[in-house]
Amino acid sequence: MKGDIMNVASVLTKDIDHENIVNPYKLLKWLESERGFKLQVPIDVDAIAQKLGIVVKYEFSLPDDAIGQITINNNGDSVVLINLLQNSYLPRRRFTLAHEIGHYCLHRNSAKKIFVDSKQSMSRTASYWDTYESAANNFAAQLLMPKKLIFDEGVKIVETLKAEGGGVAKKDDFVSKIAEKFEVSNQAMEYRLKKLGIIS
Ligand SMILES: [Zn+2]
Repeated sequence: MKGDIMNVASVLTKDIDHENIVNPYKLLKWLESERGFKLQVPIDVDAIAQKLGIVVKYEFSLPDDAIGQITINNNGDSVVLINLLQNSYLPRRRFTLAHEIGHYCLHRNSAKKIFVDSKQSMSRTASYWDTYESAANNFAAQLLMPKKLIFDEGVKIVETLKAEGGGVAKKDDFVSKIAEKFEVSNQAMEYRLKKLGIIS
């Protein structure tokens, strides 16, 4: 059984042209056209890992400060470990997996093959000076909250809030509604919306 899974993973991995997955926009396009991925909200991050041939394992036994890690193997299984104790909150788990997918897509041809992630490496501010980690965090944000889907869903949510609020949509309500829809944290969504210039 284990052998079967490994074969599938290596077949899936073999015909991935690195150029096709080097940013979240290209990755989603490629998954849609080549892997039958359905682009919809919330982004199915587990399906993305699976379609890339990444094996995801959930562990209780990782050190407390390890949130997740990936071991990149270009000739076989790349394995993501998710620390269940640190990822019980769904948006956290989704962001962790998206971050590890970011390492896979961005860093699979780099000399570094194992990335161990802590609160520090996964924090936007604390990872600012670390090129690998800040790139993986940006990748995760863009993958989970693609610009076009944010605009499409955002318009609908604002309309609903206005209808309910006598013509006025409150910013905080908007952030939590759209975060809930994308299954990301309010904090991650707020930062993304600011980046896109949707809120100030
Ligand atoms: Zn990382």
